[in-house]
Formats: sequence, C-alpha cells, structure tokens
Amino acid sequence: MSNIKRVYTFGDGNAEGNAGMKNLLGGKGANLAEMNLIGIPVPPGFTITTDTCNEYYTLGKDKVVELLKPEVEKAIAYLEEIMHAKFEDVENPLLVSVRSGARASMPGMMDTILNLGLNDAVVEGMSRKTGNPRFVWDSYRRFIQMYGDVVLGMKPENKNDHDPFELIIEALKEEKGVELDTDLTVDDLKELVARFKAVVKKQTGHDFPDSAYEQLWGSIVAVFNSWMNERAELYRRMEGIPSEWGTAVNVQAMVYGNMGDTSASGVCFSRDSATGENLFMGEFLFNAQGEDVVAGTRTPLQVTKIGAERAGELAGMTPEERIANYPSLEETMPEAYQELFNLQRKLEIHYKDMQDMEFTIQEGKLWMLQTRNGKRTGAAMVKIAMDMLAEGMIDEKAALLRVDPLKLDELLHPVFDQEAVKDVTVMAKGLAASPGAATGKAVFSSDDAAEWGARGEKVVMIRVETSPEDLAGMAAAEGILTARGGMTSHAAVVARGMGKCCVSGAGTLKIDYAAKTMEADGIVIKEGDYISLNGSTGEIYLGEVATKEAELDEDFAALMKLADKYATMKVRTNADTPADAAVARSFGAVGIGLTRTEHMFFEGEKIKAMREMILAENTAGRKEALNKILPYQLADFEGIFESMDGLPVTVRLLDPPLHEFVPHDEKGQQEMATMMGLPLKTIQQRVESLSEFNPMLGHRGCRLGNTYPEITEMQTKAIIGAALNLKKKGITAIPEIMVPLIGTVEEFKMQEEVIRATAEQLFAEYNDKVEYSVGTMIEIPRATLIADQIANHAEFFSFGTNDLTQMTFGYSRDDIASFLPIYLDKNILKNDPFEVLDQEGVGQLVRLGAERGRSTNANLKVGICGEHGGEPSSVEFCHSVGMNYVSCSPFRVPIARLAAAQAAIKQA
Ligand code: ADP
Ligand code: MG
Ligand code: MG
Repeated sequence: MSNIKRVYTFGDGNAEGNAGMKNLLGGKGANLAEMNLIGIPVPPGFTITTDTCNEYYTLGKDKVVELLKPEVEKAIAYLEEIMHAKFEDVENPLLVSVRSGARASMPGMMDTILNLGLNDAVVEGMSRKTGNPRFVWDSYRRFIQMYGDVVLGMKPENKNDHDPFELIIEALKEEKGVELDTDLTVDDLKELVARFKAVVKKQTGHDFPDSAYEQLWGSIVAVFNSWMNERAELYRRMEGIPSEWGTAVNVQAMVYGNMGDTSASGVCFSRDSATGENLFMGEFLFNAQGEDVVAGTRTPLQVTKIGAERAGELAGMTPEERIANYPSLEETMPEAYQELFNLQRKLEIHYKDMQDMEFTIQEGKLWMLQTRNGKRTGAAMVKIAMDMLAEGMIDEKAALLRVDPLKLDELLHPVFDQEAVKDVTVMAKGLAASPGAATGKAVFSSDDAAEWGARGEKVVMIRVETSPEDLAGMAAAEGILTARGGMTSHAAVVARGMGKCCVSGAGTLKIDYAAKTMEADGIVIKEGDYISLNGSTGEIYLGEVATKEAELDEDFAALMKLADKYATMKVRTNADTPADAAVARSFGAVGIGLTRTEHMFFEGEKIKAMREMILAENTAGRKEALNKILPYQLADFEGIFESMDGLPVTVRLLDPPLHEFVPHDEKGQQEMATMMGLPLKTIQQRVESLSEFNPMLGHRGCRLGNTYPEITEMQTKAIIGAALNLKKKGITAIPEIMVPLIGTVEEFKMQEEVIRATAEQLFAEYNDKVEYSVGTMIEIPRATLIADQIANHAEFFSFGTNDLTQMTFGYSRDDIASFLPIYLDKNILKNDPFEVLDQEGVGQLVRLGAERGRSTNANLKVGICGEHGGEPSSVEFCHSVGMNYVSCSPFRVPIARLAAAQAAIKQA
C-alpha cells in the first residue's frame, strides 16, 4: 500500500496529472493539471486522488491522514518553493485554497475554503508587507467564515439563513449604516473577525485553530466527509453517479481577486450556455473573491462589451448610463480582457467543446482557476454541436455523441402561447437564466416545493437565492425564480442542467420568507397564488398563462437528419389516436409499433356497446353487441391508417381484463340493465363474476380472444376492412396484427387461424386484397423460451417489456410505489426497471427471445414497444440485440432516433 501515489502536483508547467486522469484526480484536478501542461497560467497546487477518498471510507480518518502525511508535506514544500512563501511565515505566508472535485461536476459538494493559513500573527505581518490591511483582514474574515461553515459545521439558528456569520455581517453593516461588504473598513473587518471567533468558541467550545497544518487537515477531511453528505447523495441519485467514484481534494496556492480595484474574480463561458450562440460571455466583480459572483450578494458585471450592452438595453439604460453604471471588463481592463479572450479560445479549441471557466485577476494579472465542459440547455447543446461540426472542430459522429438524447426533451416542450402572453401583466423582470415556460403556484421554500410537488401540484419555487440545499425543491418545481444572482448563479446553472425554466436576479422582488409572500411594484404574491415564468425573456407574469408546443429549428432538423444517417434501427411510435400518430410522424416516426385498441372503447357511445358485449350471456348476445362495435372500430382504424399512410401500423388485439370496462357503480349498472332489458341483479352478478384476484395475471390478452374468438373476429374485420376501404381512396395501410400475451404456441396458432380466416373472408367479399402480417407480443417469460416455436408461425415479435419486466421481477407495476423508493434509496435497485430496461435480467430474456425466434425464422421482424423504447440506454441495448425498430411515445421519438444513432456509432 505504501507505493500507491496519492498526491499529484501541478504548477511548474510539469504537472504530474493530465486531462485523461479525471477518474483519479476528479474533473477539476485533471483540468488544472492539463491547463498547466498547455501553458495556461494556473496557481500551483496539488490534487489528492479520489481513491484516497475511498480509502478514507474503508480505513478511517487516522489511517488515511497517516498515509497521506508524507506526500502532503512534500507537496506543501513544493508549493512553498515555487511561491517563495512558507506556511505560517509572518512576512511571506503561503496561503492556499482547499477545493473538492469529483469526476463529474457536483453542485452538492463542499464549498471551497479560501485563504487557508491565516492566523492573528500572519494577518499582522501580511498587512505590513502588502500595505493593504483591508484586503488582508477581508481575506481573514472570509477564511473564518468559510472554515467555520464547512469544516466546523457552524449552524445558523434560522434554517433560511446560510450561516451564522452572514447574520453577524448584516448586523454590523446596519450598525455602521453601510450597504455593501466592500464598504466595511479595516476596523469593521477586525471587529467581524473578533465576533466570528467568539461565535466559533461559543458553538464549538474551542478556539479557532491557529496552525496552518491543523487548518489544512481539517479541510481535507471535510472534503472527504462532504462526499457522503445529504446534498451530495441527493445529487448523485438524481444524476446516477455511483458513490464509489469518490472525490478528489485540490489544494492550491491563493491568488487574490480582492486586492482592490485592479483585482477581480469571475466566471465565463466560451459560448452562450442558454442559446448556444457562439459568443464569449461571462460575469465578474471587481475586488471580489471566490464565489462572490455566484453567491449573488452584489450584482455582477459583464465580461464582454456586447454582453454589457445587451444587459443595459434590457434594463432600459441609455448607452451613457450603461457605461457609467455597468462597465464591462473589456472596457475597464482591456489587456486582462484580451488575455482572457485568448485563453478561452485556446481552451475551447484544446478541449473541442464549450468551456465553463473560473478566473481571478490579481492586480492586473490573469489566473485561470478552473475549466470544464460547460453545462448547457438542450437547445444550446444542439446548436453548439451543429456549429462545431460546421466549423470543422468536430466530425459528424462526435456531433451526434455530443447531444444527450434526454435533453432533447426540453426542445420539444411547450413555450408560452404568444397570444396569451399579449394580455399578461408583467410583475417584474429578471435574467433569462434557463429557457422555457413555467406556470404554477408560488412556494417559498425547497421543502414546500417538494411537498406540494409530491401531491401533484405544479409549483414555481421562489427564493432570494438558491443553494445546494434547495435541490429537492428545484427538482419538484416547474420553474425557479430568484431575486438575486446572475446567469452563473447556483439557481441558473442547476436549472439549466435540469432543463428547468429559471428566472434569476429579479432584483425588484421583495421576498419575505416568514410571511411567504413576494412583492414588486405594489403587487403581492402569496403562497399558492399562480405565477408564470418566461425563462427565455426573464419576465415574470401574474397568474396562469397558457403554453403551446415548441417550434423546432433548423439545427434540430439537421441533427435528426444526421442521426438517421447513422442509425440502423428504425423508430416507430406508440399511438392510439390519429392526432398522436400525426405528432409522432412530424417527429420522424416511421410507423406505429403499438396501437392499443382498448383505448378506443372509452369514448362516448362505444363504451356502452362494449359493456353490452361483455355483459352478454352467450355467444349470440356477444356477437350482436360486437356488430354494434364494428363500425366504431372500423372508423378508428381508418383514422389511424390514414394518418400513417404508407407506413406500417401494428395493432394489438384487445388486451386488458374485461372487468376494466364494466360499470362498478350502481348508476352505470342500472343504465346497462335498462338498455339490455335485464334485471339489475343479473348485471351485478355478471360484474361480480368478472372480478379477479390478480387481474394482471388473469383473463386478459390472447386469453380473451381464445375464449371469445368472436372478439378477434370483429377486430380483424375492422382492421382489414379499414385497410380495404382506404385502398379504394388511394391510401396505403400496412396493418400488422399483434396478438398479446402469448405463452404457448397453441395460443398463437388459434388466434392466427381466426385472423387469417376472417381476412380471407373479407378479401372475398371485397374482391380485393391488402398486405398484412400477423405477429405477437413477447411479454411472458415463457414465450421468450419457446420463441423458436412461436416464430415458426409469427411474422414479427414485439417485446412488451412492461409486462415482461413485471413478470420477470414478479413486481406488480401498479403496486411498486410502496417499495420502489426504498429499494432505490437502499441501492437494492439502481433504477426503476419500468423506466430503464434491466439489461442484466430482463435483457437476457429479450436477447434469448430474439435469437431463438430468428433461429427458426430468419425474416422475423423484431421490435420493442414498452416504455423502454424511448429510454436511451434501453435503446442502445435494443440495437445490440439487433432489433429492427423501437417504438415509443410520440414526444420520445426524436430521443430514440438520436439514441439509435449513438448506439450504431458506439457499437460499430
Ligand atoms: P466549485 O467547485 O464550487 O466551483 P471551486 O473550487 O471552483 O468551487 O472554488 C470556487 C471559487 O473559489 C473559484 O472559482 C475561485 O474563484 C475561488 N478559488 C479557488 N481556489 C482559489 C485560489 N487558489 N486562489 C484564488 N481563488 C480561488
Ligand atoms: Mg461550490
Ligand atoms: Mg469552480
């Protein structure tokens, strides 16, 4: 164990790590090393590996500190040498930051500690040496604040406050009658430090630690601990990040953005992360440190002139006012700006992707503190991929792999109806932080948002600003509104990542957490009142505003076209109505993989005829009722076939247990009794006799058609009849008749016989023919095992993975809610198997079924029509099985098309 390397240094241009080592060094550490290697100015530092974090959880704190100690001390000596400074040296102290950094960016992790190494003696010496005591004392109070918060775990008394220190600052500002942190004098800052230390002593019982090493070990351990905190775990669960990854710890020499007006710190993006526009942009603050920009305590300035001009225009400033109040970095510090501009270009070209960067300017000198591939909205993701393809930065395959299929969802979702927006009252305006439209009831805390959301209410979460503690509420809300913070605030970044609409930094809002109200311009919104957010303009509307479908742009169309070029699997849709079918077709579906006929029975008069059929006492009665249903079914199929003119349509024969259709209330039963001229009692007895203990495993699927062949006969007449009728009108229907719930060959053969005989009879009647095929759904485990026999008769298989999952796991899908959340929580299941196909178990049956089926029928067409058909990882699996198509709900069609292309590229 002693020869394991746990610490990797960077800073002298010879970093020990590089961008390829994300797993070991975390994203931040690997990229700091890489930047150092390619000549970007980064303060020197070192990274403790993610493996060490895992060791921490197996070996315990003392053992890990012991193992780490020699390497950490050596690395500190290395920093001391490069920086010409020493830990605790009164004249030239080495100060460092301690930063967490997992493989993937994780907003739930520990906040960074800055200015570590300060103590009472060092502050005095450093003040003399720099001649800038204000800066030094500002750094000291920040350090105590951050260390107290994240290492010592100092708790606020009111949970809506961030930490007890903020309260102390607010109180002092009030005493002194100043508004901003930057207005505090050296003496004020000294007073703050004294008050901070007193509250530390009071809450922890100990003095604030003076020793730099004690401070350092405290911080390193705190980073390891934060890997398992609630926020981090919640985020990991949401993003599917395994806890085995661990976090790295980065210790880095400090550079100071808070040394005065020629110093600054900020964040920037190489392209617009909201729209994807190829435009460098960012936000910064003069005389600021660390996350001041993100925290939203002061309103940040724009890095670029064009950004500042746009913002000025939005705020209604004249160009003169804008320059006076809202100057950009480009205008105020042109050299540092030019260097930043060049570096962001260099980084984007190096990484071949949009970069999200953090920088600090210390007395005019630029330092980069972080770079990573930037989070972006679905729209930006598509635009950036297609732009970079056009610019020749990446090739077609890379462009396709760049887009997260699930993120396309955002593009397909509604925006506000332009007509409806004309009449709205705009109560305030903030920043267009994450596009889209949201409408819902106002709530003022994350807990309320989560709670209201869980009971099915649509809510908009309103906060002064958000922090990682608010994740659960953000996930539950339709949209997020904050009064503070810029485009790179926590709320904005997280919302974009989630694909949620967000308006941030609406400065005119007065939010009162205690009263649960928000006020602007004399308008008061109380908890539960409706408001609407326009994430694309930043406007906040009163009331509920109608939304409409999104319009898809050229980039989207080009991406889809590209996807079809690489995909080998086709994408069909599950649709029961001509309207759904039309939507799916516009999204590029090349057929219907599943039409559920039962959904057609619930409209209007149809249900009565259906009930009559079910309640009938004998075959004659059933046939009579079925004759009434036939014209309805015929019309339904004509509608669907017509909307899918020229494309195949798989129609599933009646599947659900019959009791689902009969009336269970007395009023409905009486109605049927009157209609059928039978006593109420008889009807009630019939209904009673249909009830089953376990209907999902009862009299359903092909069991209906095999016990009542007249149902299959009627449905076949409707399907084939509709196709024949349309043929006369020049419309081509390609029906594929699908028998559900087959478990034995005989079940299939008997249904097939009825279908083919009925079709022949119709062909004779019409003296015409249409092309049709007969196949089956494979959804009972037994069917996968005897798939070779079934395929001797069936022309196609469609895997019904909902039922197959249900029966393979033995989970009733309607009752799973009582234990699934606990199973996910305890990691007994990694995913909901009804959402993400269980490749390990259920997947084996799918693979086996397809293989056995094709072993006897080389032409067997194989597809899938469960919910999984639109879930990217499941689509990839279907490709690996060699399926001909996947079928999914209409809005999932573009997602499946892209996932199919990605599967083809990855598995080539
Ligand atoms: P996060 O993971 O939340 O982004 P970071 O570790 O990137 O946290 O730290 C947040 C900010 O703290 C950085 O963007 C930077 O402004 C500041 N910071 C971190 N380390 C240093 C340092 N060595 N010198 C100056 N500022 C630093
Ligand atoms: Mg942070
Ligand atoms: Mg950062």
